[in-house]
Amino acid sequence: MDDSLRSRWERLRERVDEACRDAGRDPSDVDVLPVSKTFGPELIREAVGLGLRRFGENKVQEIRDKYESLADCGIDWVMIGHLQTNKAGMVARLATEVQSLDRSRLAAALDRQLRAANRAIDALVQVKTSDEPSKYGLDPAQLLPFLDELADYPTLRVRGLMTLAINTPDLDEVRRCFRRLRELRDAAAARGHDLPRLSMGMSGDFPLAIAEGATEVRIGTALFGARPYPDSYYWPEAGRAP
Ligand SMILES: *Cc1c(COP(=O)(O)O)cnc(C)c1O
Repeated sequence: MDDSLRSRWERLRERVDEACRDAGRDPSDVDVLPVSKTFGPELIREAVGLGLRRFGENKVQEIRDKYESLADCGIDWVMIGHLQTNKAGMVARLATEVQSLDRSRLAAALDRQLRAANRAIDALVQVKTSDEPSKYGLDPAQLLPFLDELADYPTLRVRGLMTLAINTPDLDEVRRCFRRLRELRDAAAARGHDLPRLSMGMSGDFPLAIAEGATEVRIGTALFGARPYPDSYYWPEAGRAP
């Protein structure tokens, strides 16, 4: 089988399109966010050659490390991992979007840094949709007050919600996380918060996320292949299997 990046991308997009059709949805309503964490500039440049322009990274230091060597590519860097408040400045300078906005102090820090940089970025609120003790993300009960608070920060254009599903082979439980995010979005919409985007689903579970209304799936392994580091490096406290 042809294992080039191009053929992997085409196969992935076919699988996403098929999941959309199975769910009775229009494939053009679901984007793929390639997740390039641990992979170097050469591979990302190859992906740019396929027409990809947005890339998700879990650590802002990795965005910083790749930024210069890919500066000519016009990449939009999307921060999808847990963000420490003291790294908000790097995101404010280098990213076009943050999907891991999950607490007030972080919003305040990003706003301060974005004002200093004279920039505004898109933001998704990361919500905790499972009872796993280890996951980052906002407590769903705090979503409405947090959204009200974010309305005070014009530097953060809040576009939707993001979640990581529970890490379990039980597909019903995984799907419940995705459904929960959609229901939270609908409840927020009823209170006047327009949140068109739902970022949910990864290589192992994206068809379920699409069935529950994902507008964007974040895909690493299924596109770029196995990562050189185990996932425990990215979710240290989660102890995810490699
Ligand atoms: C790594 C990562 C992904 C992609 O994971 P795969 O299983 O490799 O597709 C998605 N979302 C976040 C937040 C990640 O850190």
